[in-house]
Amino acid sequence: MTAPRKPSFPACVGTHSPLAPAAKPAVASAPPQPRGVGLDSVAVRASMVRRLAQAGISHPQVLDAMGSVPRHLFVDTALVTQAYEDTSLPIGWGQTISRPTVVARMVQLLLEAPCVQAGGRLARVLEIGTGCGYQAAVLARVASEVYSMERLRAMHERARDRLRPLRLANVHLILGDGMLGYEAGAPYAAIIAAAGGTQLPSAWREQLAVGGRLVAPVAGAQGQQVLQVVDRTEQGYTQRVLESVHFVPLKSGVA
Ligand code: SAH
Repeated sequence: MTAPRKPSFPACVGTHSPLAPAAKPAVASAPPQPRGVGLDSVAVRASMVRRLAQAGISHPQVLDAMGSVPRHLFVDTALVTQAYEDTSLPIGWGQTISRPTVVARMVQLLLEAPCVQAGGRLARVLEIGTGCGYQAAVLARVASEVYSMERLRAMHERARDRLRPLRLANVHLILGDGMLGYEAGAPYAAIIAAAGGTQLPSAWREQLAVGGRLVAPVAGAQGQQVLQVVDRTEQGYTQRVLESVHFVPLKSGVA
């Protein structure tokens, strides 16, 4: 993990070498082992990955990322035994970490963006809602750079502490209002939000690269929350609505 800095490479570039050594984060070579929880997390993660595949997640890089990030390190000790179940879990301050199937589904949607070549990685990604930092760690496995924003200072600081042992040099944590996006890192090949509002903030569309994709929960026609996908093309934007989802509210300002 490093301090945010202005990136120096194009936003929308995939490579055909998904596990190129230069981009491979430290977590892959030295996965931390669980201590004192009686779990063999490698085996437990493998069985979670099998369940994800049964649930329709097919992208090899998504399955690889989900199989390598130690989810139990991001939840409170009391919840560790549930870390690999397909359930959302409380992460403090009234917020929740999404179910693994939802994380995997959204990351898979990003990897299917028009600007990602077959078998490629994502370039720069903006995540709104760092939360416990788990999804940022997953994104770090499939993207060159991850900019992750959190509006709650205490949450942001705890995510920093939890991500530190994973030594993910391509993850940049930003304390700030994600409704404004993060102009310094724009344009992004992908933007993913873990909190939903009544509409998509205009900054997200503006900061998306041409060929890039935005995946976010937003209020649907009947007031229920739905997953929305917005693609930026040379001609403008196309958008489609997918399934109903349940994310915490997108709020403005830093607290
Ligand atoms: N991806 C996260 C899920 C976190 S829950 C994980 O893996 O744990 C959603 C988070 O979005 C909460 O921490 C909430 O504080 C944050 N959030 C809500 N509105 C926000 C905003 N405008 N900017 C940044 N973060 C926001």
